[in-house]
Order: sequence, then structure tokens, then C-alpha cells
Amino acid sequence: MSSNAPSTQETPTPDTPTQDASTQATHQGGCHCARIRFTATLPDALTSTQLTDCNCSICVKNGYHFLYLPNSSVTFIRGEHEAKKYFFHKQRIAHYFCAECGTSVWAESVDPEFYAGWKALNVRAFDDVDMSVLKFEKVDGKSH
Ligand SMILES: [Zn+2]
Repeated sequence: MSSNAPSTQETPTPDTPTQDASTQATHQGGCHCARIRFTATLPDALTSTQLTDCNCSICVKNGYHFLYLPNSSVTFIRGEHEAKKYFFHKQRIAHYFCAECGTSVWAESVDPEFYAGWKALNVRAFDDVDMSVLKFEKVDGKSH
């Protein structure tokens, strides 16, 4: 038998409530006019979560700071199916925004071989978010 060293992988196990939920953090968010509303459960506190600070064309235009979560950690209260989708370049990522107020709320892949089952939430859409205390990781999306 192999010895099972404690796993350090960061992928949350879907639908399995963990006994130690002390580091989990649940946030509500949505677009500016509140037609889109969601709840997101993070494995760690938002302030200790690395968010993207990407220089690619869409991230700069939309002010995206993405937080990646499995679909099971994001629950839409309303508006998921009313959101407009924008595609460009390889057409494999749907960028969702509110048709009413224009807030860029999230993005997700439509390519089953590219980040299937994950959502990229724009942390700017979280309620009462204090951008000044968050941690960002520079991503050079422009060159890719
Ligand atoms: Zn809206």
C-alpha cells in the first residue's frame, strides 16, 4: 500500500462538506442593478486568495480580477440565464455581463477540454469588496 501523505492540492472536493469549514468564506455578489445575484463559497478567506491581475485585452477593458472556483462553489440566486455572453478570439470563453447595467460578472469556458467545470468570477462583482486589501497575481495574458 502506498502511504497517503497529506494532500496539498487546492482543488475543492465538490459536494463534500468539510468538517473544518473555518477557512471557508461565503460571499454574495452580483451586477450593479442586481438582476444577476450569486453566492460563492471560497476555500479560504478572500483576503488570502490570489486573484488575477491580467494585462490581456478583455481583462483590461472590463476591469476583471478573476477568482477561479468550481461550478459547485457558485450558486446563482438569479440572472444566470439572462446574462449576455461575449465571445472573441478562439471563441471558447463566454464572458457574461448584465444586459441592463453592463457589469462584467463572470466568465467560463465552453470548451470541454479547457477549464471545464470552472467559473472565473470577477471579484469586483462581490458585495462590499475592498480592493485595497486583496492579493493579486500578475498574469501576462497579453502575450498568450
Ligand atoms: Zn445589472
